[in-house]
Amino acid sequence: MQQKKRILLLATGGTIASRKSDNGLKPQITPEELIEYIPQVKEICDVEAVQLLNLDSTNMEPSHWKLMVHAIWEHYDDFDGFVIAHGTDTMAYTAAALSYMVQNTKKPIVITGAQKPIDLEITDAKSNLIDSFLYAADDRSQGVQIVFDGKVIAGTRAKKVRSKSYNAFSSIDYPSLAVIQDMNIMRYIPMLPYEEDCLLYTSPSPRDRTR
Ligand code: GLU
Repeated sequence: MQQKKRILLLATGGTIASRKSDNGLKPQITPEELIEYIPQVKEICDVEAVQLLNLDSTNMEPSHWKLMVHAIWEHYDDFDGFVIAHGTDTMAYTAAALSYMVQNTKKPIVITGAQKPIDLEITDAKSNLIDSFLYAADDRSQGVQIVFDGKVIAGTRAKKVRSKSYNAFSSIDYPSLAVIQDMNIMRYIPMLPYEEDCLLYTSPSPRDRTR
C-alpha cells in the first residue's frame, strides 16, 4: 500500500481561523484546532501544523511572503506538500507572489481560506480545507494554486471577485485547472512535470534566489 503523504499546514490567520470578539472577527483559532475540525483529513494524509502568522490578511506584507517561503524551504525535504490557510482579501496577491518566489515546485503549495470561520455551524471552511489537503496529497499536483469553493486556480490567475459568496475567486483569462467535487479531483488542464529544479527566492525579484 502507498504510504500516506505528509502535508504541512501553515496557518496565517484570516476569517477561517477567526472567532467573534468585541471588535469583530479576530484570528484566534490555532492550526491544531483547525485540524480538529476536519477529523476525516486523517484518511487523506498525515498533517502537521505550524502557526506562522495570525493576521487579518489585509495586513499582509512582502516580508510575510518571505516568511512563508522560508518555512517552505525549511520543511521542504520533510513534507510532500503544503497548505497555507490565509485570509481571502489578499490571498490572490500571496498566491501570485509565491508563484514567482517558489518556481517549479513538484511539491504542491495550496492556498485556501474561507468566507466563514471554521467554528460556525454553517461554513465553507471545512470543505475548503479538506479539498486543499486532498489536492495537496494528490500525485498529479504541483506548483502554487488556490483551492476554494471546489475550484483549483493557478496562483498567477486568481482574483477575489465576491466578498460574501462562497464562490469568491475566479480564474482570470485562463480556465480553472481542476474542480473538486465529493472528494474527486477532475482536472481540466493536465500538468506537465517540471523538468527544472525547484527554485526559491526571497522576493518576487529574480535577483533574490536562495536555493
Ligand atoms: N479581511 C480578512 C482577511 O482577509 C477577512 C477576509 C477573509 O479572511 O475572508 O483576512
